[in-house]
This record gives sequence, C-alpha cells and structure tokens, in this order.
Amino acid sequence: MSIMRLEIVTAEKIIYSDEVSSVVAPGTAGQLGILPNHAPLLTSLKPGELRILKEDKEVNIAVSGGFLEVLQNVVTVLADTAERAEDIDVERAQDALKRAQDKVNSSDSDLDLERAIQSLKRSQARVYVSKRKRSSASRTKVK
Ligand code: ATP
Repeated sequence: MSIMRLEIVTAEKIIYSDEVSSVVAPGTAGQLGILPNHAPLLTSLKPGELRILKEDKEVNIAVSGGFLEVLQNVVTVLADTAERAEDIDVERAQDALKRAQDKVNSSDSDLDLERAIQSLKRSQARVYVSKRKRSSASRTKVK
C-alpha cells in the first residue's frame, strides 16, 4: 500500500508527524483530497476538519486556517492553530461559539465583525470535530 509523510505544525508545537494513506483538508477553494504521490501543491486552509487515514484508522484534527504544501510525497501543514479531536475542550469551544454568535448578532457599532466571524468559524470547527469523533466512538462501542 502506498503511503506519504504528513507533518502538521503550529508556531507552538508539532501536532502530528507520521506516514499516512490519505489526507482530506479544508482548502479555502474547497475540500482537498490528497493521496500518495500527489502533484506539488501549495494552498491556504480555512477553519474546518482535517481527516487523516492511516491504515484503517482515522485521525480527526480541527484547524483554524494556515497553509498546506505537497512536495515530493511530503504533506506539510502550517496551521494557525490545530487540535486533535480528543484534545478539544468542547465546553470551551461551545462557550467561544456562543460569545462569537452574540457578537455577530449584536448591533454594537464598535464591533470588529470580521474578527467575530473568524472566532465563530474556529469554534464551530472545534465543536464539529470533537462531536463527530465522540459519535463515531460511541458507534464503535455498540458494535
Ligand atoms: P477561546 O476564546 O476559547 O480562547 P479562541 O478561538 O480565541 O478560543 P485561539 O486563539 O484560536 O482560541 O487558540 C488559542 C490556543 O488555545 C491555541 O493553542 C488553540 O489550539 C487552543 N484552543 C482554543 N480553543 C480550544 C479548545 N476548545 N480546546 C482545546 N484547545 C483550544
């Protein structure tokens, strides 16, 4: 089975570094599916879910934006922030989502709307990734 190298880093730390079978990433121009030996590519990322397949295991990571490069069978993600599903504090993300929703809906003229929208998208991605992981874990338990 063919594989490629995946490195996901933020300014703070290495989030993931391993050989993988496929990556699905939230590109700003749309969802990107990357398989081994992909052509060279450089793209920006939007807030969303990064799905990694390694053998038959899936790893889910929330990213808030950044860049993804594919070069010589190595995929490098430079993420603004990135958290593995199991490391997401879902209550914190839900609180942030609520705060951002309140700001977006407020009529405050001093509001930095673009900042509030970015915060909303980051927290939505975190809530989505952590909840999806939980529901797939409970399905596995039932089997
Ligand atoms: P908050 O208002 O809750 O801080 P935020 O969107 O402003 O959310 P960021 O500035 O994007 O937070 O992230 C700051 C740091 O906190 C990053 O290292 C990020 O990975 C981490 N982080 C943010 N939210 C969560 C969360 N819900 N669970 C785990 N780590 C988080």
